[in-house]
Amino acid sequence: MQSSRVTDPIDLDRPIRSALPALARGAATLARLGVTTPRQALWYLPFRYDDFSDLRRLAELIPDEKQSARVRVEAIRVEPGFGRRPQRVIAQLSDDSGSAEAIWFGRRYVERRLQQGDEIVVSGKVSQRGWRSQFTSPEFSPAGHESIHTARVVPVYHLAAGVTQKRLRELLARVLEACLDAVEDPLTDAERGDLPPLDTALRTAHFPEEASDVQDALDRLAFDELLALQLTLAQARQARDALLSAPIATDRATLDEIVGTLPFELTGDQAAAVRAITADLASERPMRRLLQGDVGSGKTAVAAVALACAVRAGWQAVLMAPTEILARQHHAGLAPLLDRLGVRAEFLSGSLTPARKREIHDAIGGGMAEVVIGTHAVISAAVEFPRLGLAIVDEQHRFGVGQRAALQAKGSDREPHLLALTATPIPRTLALTVYGDLSISTIRELPPGRQPIRTEIRDRRALPKIQDFLAAEAAGGRQSFVVVPLVAESEALEAASAEAEVERLRAALPDLRIGLVHGQLRADERDATMTAFAAREMDLLVATTVIEVGIDVPNASVILVEDAERFGLAQLHQLRGRVGRGTHRSICILLSDATDELAQERLAVVAGSQDGFHIAEQDLRLRGAGNLLGTRQSGLPPLRVASLFEPRHLKLAERARGLADTVVGADSVLAGRPVLARLQADFAAAEEAGDAA
Ligand code: ADP
Ligand code: MG
Repeated sequence: MQSSRVTDPIDLDRPIRSALPALARGAATLARLGVTTPRQALWYLPFRYDDFSDLRRLAELIPDEKQSARVRVEAIRVEPGFGRRPQRVIAQLSDDSGSAEAIWFGRRYVERRLQQGDEIVVSGKVSQRGWRSQFTSPEFSPAGHESIHTARVVPVYHLAAGVTQKRLRELLARVLEACLDAVEDPLTDAERGDLPPLDTALRTAHFPEEASDVQDALDRLAFDELLALQLTLAQARQARDALLSAPIATDRATLDEIVGTLPFELTGDQAAAVRAITADLASERPMRRLLQGDVGSGKTAVAAVALACAVRAGWQAVLMAPTEILARQHHAGLAPLLDRLGVRAEFLSGSLTPARKREIHDAIGGGMAEVVIGTHAVISAAVEFPRLGLAIVDEQHRFGVGQRAALQAKGSDREPHLLALTATPIPRTLALTVYGDLSISTIRELPPGRQPIRTEIRDRRALPKIQDFLAAEAAGGRQSFVVVPLVAESEALEAASAEAEVERLRAALPDLRIGLVHGQLRADERDATMTAFAAREMDLLVATTVIEVGIDVPNASVILVEDAERFGLAQLHQLRGRVGRGTHRSICILLSDATDELAQERLAVVAGSQDGFHIAEQDLRLRGAGNLLGTRQSGLPPLRVASLFEPRHLKLAERARGLADTVVGADSVLAGRPVLARLQADFAAAEEAGDAA
């Protein structure tokens, strides 16, 4: 028994408590970080590193930098706490070049671990106190002993309450030691090429020998993640190749008739998109097309034409939007257009009464509902389309791969053609990398007669003047949006700040009718407020980013975005698109007190351009800097290590795509590659849950 236990490989997916009994106490600590298995612990990566590898002599310490020194403890004293002042422990340090001090605050029992005469290595931030250098709350360890905390490149992790860097580092070091042998590399040596083996990469990502080793290690982990994404896309591609769609042929006269019912002439770009789409639809090969165009560029009109073509050819069509408000707005805009063509469009969302839902489900099942416009309620199990020919997804990046797949699975024996609409343009290479084999149509030209939106950057001192301006606009019959600061951590906090802002504005602008929408309100409450605002029953709408997508209120002429530096550039551009939709001259005010250069440069990009593509590219360029472990950007897959804003990783993504195509078999399974299959499955599960770190 004993010997078999020694050779049993550790199961990386069992709870830490049972997989690593020696770490039973640490398991509770790790659980505070959401880490419950050894595998999760191995992939709990630092978000940055402190380089303490360079030992300094005390005479050469540089103020305001983090550094290490090998020193002797000359004296140590404890100053008791007094009133609100915490206890302090102060150590006098020396080496052959000079002396310095170290100070720790609060009851940390440092004095029990340090003795006069100890030789130690201290690592931490140094400041200048009068004539001497002082380490503030440094880490320390006995000199000559290997340590994971000092005199090296030290990992810094995200923490939770009750977990210290030091404790976490020790736990992760022990997990690595116990588990690295059990890590199986999903790649063969040939596939890996110049990237390090997985176990080496994990060890280095946590405890690099040299700062310069980190990049290779993270690149390797990024590659695995990108490969998981590409495997998912390749499998979907393979599965689709076997499928056939409805051949939706539209003759010239019918197309002219459909386009002729629109209340305006299509722009050149819209017409080109319509041509590409009708050509795709005519084939039995499933269409997979992304229609990207800036806010207000008229994607909805193109969608309307596609919907009508499908119905004229005898098929049903569905349009799915990410929010109730958007879905209703699409229905309100499209239903009259389609009605002129004798096409009936039904609205479906979760907020309808059960009886109404049943009616719609029946109308869809019986084929009477030719076009269905709704929220993700259209993919619920109760909805069955006998003849679904076309599926359109608005703001498709707001849906997961799984939801998009569920929509496509709504076709009975034929795969519906897929048209995805997005106002968040991304560069072509990135689109291909992230979305696989989508064809892309782009609308760059805005409909004629659009007024450019003036964009101004202001700081908070300008607020009183801005409020006077909002009041003047209201007096002139115009409406305004006020967008409250983004609180990424919590929708509840964001809602609270929105409520506080409403109170403040109601007090400052007592004559204005002020409404409020945020993500914590029920969908029907939000809708009622939006509808009232659109009906001009309010002058000013305070909102969180729930108004970001697609809301169309042509009478709104001002949008004020508070703490604008917290938003993504594409998001600011989207927000700005809420105004300038009518004939009134419109203005977007970006309020920001941020003084750092990057923030100012980012805002200047938005203020200086109305071109969503240009803004997206600049966003990419500016994100590249200072972003070690990537970010989660809505619309992109949940990558934790890989950054699609990092040119090196985009190259890796292409390489991953090539590999994915060769290893995914014609039957779209990863036969004989269980470790790869698991990599892919884990990624797909995370994507579904939307829970990237
Ligand atoms: P998007 O969905 O791309 O943000 P919409 O389809 O909502 O844009 O169009 C924005 C506005 O422009 C709508 O009010 C629409 O009626 C109008 N519009 C669209 N295409 C044209 C066109 N070719 N000429 C004039 N107005 C148009
Ligand atoms: Mg739209």
